[in-house]
Amino acid sequence: MELWYTEKQTENFGITAKITKTYVDEQTDFQKLDMIETEEFGTMLVLDGMVMTTVKDEFVYHEMVAHPVLFTHPNPEHVLVVGGGDGGVIREIMKHPKVKKAVLVDIDGKVIEYSKKYLPTIAGELDNPRVEVQVNDGFMHIHDHKNTYDVIMVDSTEPVGPAANLFTRGFYQGIYESLKEDGIFVAQTDNPWFKADLIQSVNKDVKEVFPIVRVYGANIPTYPSGLWTFTMGSKKYDPLQVDEASITEIETKYYTPRLHKAAFVLPKFVEDLVK
Ligand code: SAM
Repeated sequence: MELWYTEKQTENFGITAKITKTYVDEQTDFQKLDMIETEEFGTMLVLDGMVMTTVKDEFVYHEMVAHPVLFTHPNPEHVLVVGGGDGGVIREIMKHPKVKKAVLVDIDGKVIEYSKKYLPTIAGELDNPRVEVQVNDGFMHIHDHKNTYDVIMVDSTEPVGPAANLFTRGFYQGIYESLKEDGIFVAQTDNPWFKADLIQSVNKDVKEVFPIVRVYGANIPTYPSGLWTFTMGSKKYDPLQVDEASITEIETKYYTPRLHKAAFVLPKFVEDLVK
């Protein structure tokens, strides 16, 4: 008998993948966690019925969270990742020799544990000595660490359950205070097809807190609609002012120096959301 997994992306629409194996099917203290093997995208981490990452397309998201912001800040020594327990963003951060220390704060230790076990190509750098892993609420961590980080990356689940308060103006204010005087942050901000309201409200909130706000996109086939957005808030440095020649070579599959600025060129209907 064939087994298929469906993520309902809206009440009336979803994506479906053929499952060949189920490794984990567990309710953690915070969310429902599934680790499944799919025919088309390899091992897939699913939280509360939403695809978080797959072995085949994870590189797009993880590279596009980490590299645009790290190549915008001239000296990103201290970096914080809120969420990101699968370790993909940390793996990309570790490609930057300027980063002395990266702290990862995920609320759910089970995501970290199972990612190390079933997603080794993604989680492989979590034990790097430059990385400190904490199991904690990112909201609390931000409020307890003022003027601490050069760069903060928010790699959270969607704004339901434990991540609900990570999409609020209060959280962005906390991030502002947790950053040093020239700090920058980036957050994944969902898709413009089904979550236009969310993109608009995040954009409004971030603009009330940060002087420089930029939105960029990437194509991620297993995320709702395939078109994903990221919002950057910066105190001083503008990603659009980065000199392409200053971007050093690192091993990537999606991000390139030319893409750095190109990713900020948005389709008209997305541009209209964040004007
Ligand atoms: N790339 C994914 C996406 O956009 O679909 C998200 C990656 S997943 C690893 C996000 C992580 O955020 C989960 O491991 C979850 O436990 C964590 N998370 C959710 N709320 C959090 C909070 N308040 N503080 C810290 N981590 C949180």
